[in-house]
Amino acid sequence: MASFLTEYFRCAAHSADFQLTGGLSQDAGYFRFGPEIVCYGRSAAGYRARRPDGPLYDVSADVRNHGSSVQLPFDPSEVVTNFHYERYAIAGAKGRTGTARLVRDAYYFVRPLLSVHVRKHLQKVSLSGWRNLAFPNWPVDTTVDVLMEKLMALSIRQREGAKVPFIWFWPEGKNGCAIVTHDVETQDGVDRSARLMDMNESFGIPASFQVIPEKRYSVSEAYLDSIRRRGCEVNVQDLNHDGHLYCDRRKFERRVAKINRYGKHYGAAGFRAGVLYRNQEWFDLLDFDYDTSVPNVAHLDPQRGGCCTVMPYFIGKLVELPVTTTQDYSLFYILNDYSLQLWERQIELILRKHGMINVITHPDYITGPREEKTYAGLLAMLDRVRQERNVWVTLPREVSKWWRQRSQMQLVQKDGEWCAEGPGNERAVVAYASLEGEVLAYSQAGPRAFLKSGPPQSTRVL
Ligand SMILES: [Zn+2]
Repeated sequence: MASFLTEYFRCAAHSADFQLTGGLSQDAGYFRFGPEIVCYGRSAAGYRARRPDGPLYDVSADVRNHGSSVQLPFDPSEVVTNFHYERYAIAGAKGRTGTARLVRDAYYFVRPLLSVHVRKHLQKVSLSGWRNLAFPNWPVDTTVDVLMEKLMALSIRQREGAKVPFIWFWPEGKNGCAIVTHDVETQDGVDRSARLMDMNESFGIPASFQVIPEKRYSVSEAYLDSIRRRGCEVNVQDLNHDGHLYCDRRKFERRVAKINRYGKHYGAAGFRAGVLYRNQEWFDLLDFDYDTSVPNVAHLDPQRGGCCTVMPYFIGKLVELPVTTTQDYSLFYILNDYSLQLWERQIELILRKHGMINVITHPDYITGPREEKTYAGLLAMLDRVRQERNVWVTLPREVSKWWRQRSQMQLVQKDGEWCAEGPGNERAVVAYASLEGEVLAYSQAGPRAFLKSGPPQSTRVL
């Protein structure tokens, strides 16, 4: 029941002792766990709503203390899985829209031949009403992260305030992490890639390029080399970007075999589907180190939903690096916004949870002085948080590698001091979670440098 808590924090199994208060319902639905947290799943108390926007039953009063364990009226691991796999959104879509809507949306989002003007008009129509969506939370959803903090706090309180050691989220005690990814959509994007690399380089920020293997443009060795030579990363984007990758299981199986071959051929560690289409239940066929197709909150994407976390997580053997900021395309053409306000706000919300900033921009859309100015502003902002707030700015494959290593490390006690064991542990830092009143706080353990930028922001959780 507590497996997600020990995986999230990488703390010892005995630090988290949770039990169910009783049998779970047959049906799954929405309920509340305090004012901040919306859950989706089965529960052992009250009712479960079919939609997130109506009144929701709050299970807070049904939590019980039992010896050293906390009894919950729901299974947090089930709730977290429902978010990671976006099962709540799939259940919602079945009742509402149907596949015809999805296919129509797909068409407008993937057609490169329609002019941007026509496409953005059609997309505005198909996305209308997104501002009224009650869940996930716009512009960043941290439901999973707040749930984890709250369970950690309950666990500490149950154990009479004993602080809990865990393996800190990022190497060398970094406060958060940031990655920049570029999806190359057309020949235009291929031609403009070098220009984007110049801009990135001037800020010392490396990026990954997601390249479409078939139909859109021809992928030359020289092009791939031009990316790798400059310290950037090549990934596979979809197969041919026609919007049908996940429409049909048979078709997917045929396509994924090709996608995996292109991955090997490119030496790619990561995969992203066209227009962030996804079906996590099929991800086990993707032969990559990581996927980066799942939005945190997908209000402006044709496939609605969102994984509701700003941390990487595992989908089977794949590391998922969720997309946690709004894409340049949506910002410029759907919101008609060339300011940095939205990105700034998202970055702030992500860093409050020590999460991962994952940016998608396209060489195809950073075309004029106005777009370039906005993009340069974003790079400057990432450079600033790197320096002032000790954020780790790196390539996605490095984040995936670290997350995999951290997931394999063990927290052990040596001579009365906690340390991490396993490959990569020389970069790991042990931190402590403690409860100061109703606030969950993190602090340093041992002699290593930790959070040069000062103590992390605390969160009121109880
Ligand atoms: Zn694309």
